[in-house]
Parts: sequence; structure tokens; C-alpha cells
Amino acid sequence: MLQTLPIPATQTSDLSDIVAKVDAGERLSYDDGLRLFRSNDLLTVGQLANQVNTRINGDKYVYFNQNRHINPTNVCAFHCNFCSFAKFKEDTPGAYTWTPEQIVERIRPDVHNRVTEFHIVGGLHPTLGFDYYVDILRALKKEYPWVHLKAFTGVEIDFFAQLTGKDHRTVLEELIEAGLGSMPGGGAEIFHPDIRNKICPEKADAATWLAIHGIAHDLGLHTNATMLYGHIESYEHRVDHLIRLREQQDRSGGFNTFIPLRYHPENNNLGRRLDWTTAHDTLKTIAVSRILLDNFPHVKAYWIMLTPPIAQLALHFGADDIDGTVVEEKIYHDAGATTEEQLDKFDLLRLIKAVGKTPVERDTLYNVIEIYDQPIETYAPDSRKTRRGEVKITHIELN
Ligand code: SF4
Repeated sequence: MLQTLPIPATQTSDLSDIVAKVDAGERLSYDDGLRLFRSNDLLTVGQLANQVNTRINGDKYVYFNQNRHINPTNVCAFHCNFCSFAKFKEDTPGAYTWTPEQIVERIRPDVHNRVTEFHIVGGLHPTLGFDYYVDILRALKKEYPWVHLKAFTGVEIDFFAQLTGKDHRTVLEELIEAGLGSMPGGGAEIFHPDIRNKICPEKADAATWLAIHGIAHDLGLHTNATMLYGHIESYEHRVDHLIRLREQQDRSGGFNTFIPLRYHPENNNLGRRLDWTTAHDTLKTIAVSRILLDNFPHVKAYWIMLTPPIAQLALHFGADDIDGTVVEEKIYHDAGATTEEQLDKFDLLRLIKAVGKTPVERDTLYNVIEIYDQPIETYAPDSRKTRRGEVKITHIELN
């Protein structure tokens, strides 16, 4: 389905009052955010984002981790119009559901002692009970006790509450008991009901999603937050989304990272709009997010969604994290992502060092594991695994 809803044309405008506010460390308003999105002065917006990032994180380090994504099932009871991942019945071609034991074995070849995080999200299975999800956490924790479990979006937590008749707090407490370490930021999409009711009407509404994250923070969990941009929303909806997140962070304080997710238009009901998001729009979205979310520690340039080159550029537009090794990614590749599903550690080091920054390997909670401050050659492997198998690296001496 071709979408023709127009994004307002960008315009040149004087941003000097906003520059002065950012210089003074003042919080920006909704109207300021809108003017930044409408401006085509990308370099000024990027410079402001850099300034905010430098104030919060310094201008030297960029974070990454060695993680492994796990999508336990793609069978889902919901019908989100932007989703290309879900299959609605177990016998639909391409549908899969892995048992906890199958998950443990599937990931075994990829799990070494420097993998510090499993990122676990998936479909809302229409017939399996809550025990299925609890058992996945228990099985992973038993087999890989050193790996942090970042699992289940606010939408999944709300679904589990509906499945069990328990409240959100109880559901979260039971998952924590099974090994849950933090929550990813998915399911936020766009909060404004004018858009949310069109793209994912069955999902927890904004207030519920935000309340679940507030409860998680109250229980001592850190969580992330996302925004799916570049479909039928306007700049107004994006700014509204960011302000709602900023207000929740003021209330509960447990968000670690904001991750703008670039919409992918293949194989779903929503399809491609005429002006599907561009590199310019992506860099501006990263930058405006960094400026408005002055109480979020980190903004991530998720290379899977942005492509490695754009993610690399985003490191000069306010992002201080490039995500991790990932290894297996289904959700965005089903929607047309053309990136690899895996980057190895050396790829990530190279991307970060090439923009003059120092890569820092972190765990999920941003504890520093290693700082890579030596020349890139120091870390070059002798051989690397590619899709075509193992290849030997030739080191060329340059005089
Ligand atoms: S986005 Fe999530 S909840 Fe919605 S249909 Fe896809 S898998 Fe199901």
C-alpha cells in the first residue's frame, strides 16, 4: 500500500535562540523540537547534538557490546501493520517456535565468554502460556550464567499480564526471579494515538507502555526506549513521542538508551511511502533525539537498521553507541533490511576508530569491559568468518 501522507517540507530557519538554550544547558520545548526537525540546517542540528552528547558522555568514547539476538517465535496474536516478522498461525509457511532447549542449542556456537548479552524479543504466541517465556529465561540462565538477559518489551509484558490475569509488577517480579536483567525498548513505535491506532491498534497504549517501564525502574531494572520513524507519522508525532519519554525519565529515571528505529517497508501492510526515510532524515532524527532527551544517558545508532555507514556518520550527530555483534536478526531483515546480520568485533572497532573515536566494549548496563585505545592494527584478527566461510587476513606493512 503506497502511503502519501506528506512530511512537512524542511525549511531554513534561524536557530540562534535554540543554540543559546543548548549552550546554557536549558531544556528545549516541544516547539523547539519541532523547529529542529523542520530545519534543513543539518550541520547546526548535528553540532548541537554533539554538544549535548559531549556534556553527558564526553566526546571520546563510543560504546558497543558483544551480544546475541534471540527471537523465540514469530507466531503472533497481534496484527501490526508495519510488521513483516509475524506469522499469524503455527502452520503458516515460515512460522517457527523454538523450545527453550532448542534455543540453548541453536545459539551454542555463537556464545563465548565475551558475549555479555542476550537480546530476547519475539511474537506474542496465541496458544503458549507464560511458562514458555519464563522457561526460556531459566534455560538460558542455567546454561550461560554469565550472560545478561535483556528480554521482553513493554508490549510483551502487557501481553503476559493479559495471559495470566496478573498485574504488570507481578509479571516482572516473576521474570526477574527467572533471570531477567533488563528490558529492551521495543513496542514504543509512535505513542500518539492518531498514529498508534493506525499502525498497531492492539498494542499497549502509550500510558501503559510508559507505566510498565516505570514499574520496571521501580523494581531496579534498567530499560531502553525506541521510536519507529519514517512511516506515516509527522514531525509533530515524533516530538510528542520524545517529550513523553523525557517526562517518564523525569519520573522514574531508569532508561539507559534511546534507539531510533528506521522503518523498513517490505512485506508488510503499511508499505512504502513516497518519501521513505533518507540518510538526511535519519541523521536529523538521531540528533534531535539526543538534544531533546537531555535526561537519557545514551543514544544508539543501531547499525542493523541504519546500515553501518550511516550508523558511523551518526556518531558525529549525537549517538554514542553503535549496538553490538547481533549475530542473528530476523525482525528487520524480514522487512527488507539489506545489512549483514552480524558484524564481528573488529568490524565495530574499525567503524568507530575511523571517525576518530575510541571504542569501548560495554556490558548491557554500561560497565566498561575494555577500552580499545591502541592503533586498529593491534586488534586485527588473523582470519575472519564470513558468509562464505573462513578467510585469512593479509596484513600489509605500509612504510
Ligand atoms: S510487531 Fe510484534 S506484536 Fe506486532 S505483529 Fe509483529 S511480532 Fe506481533
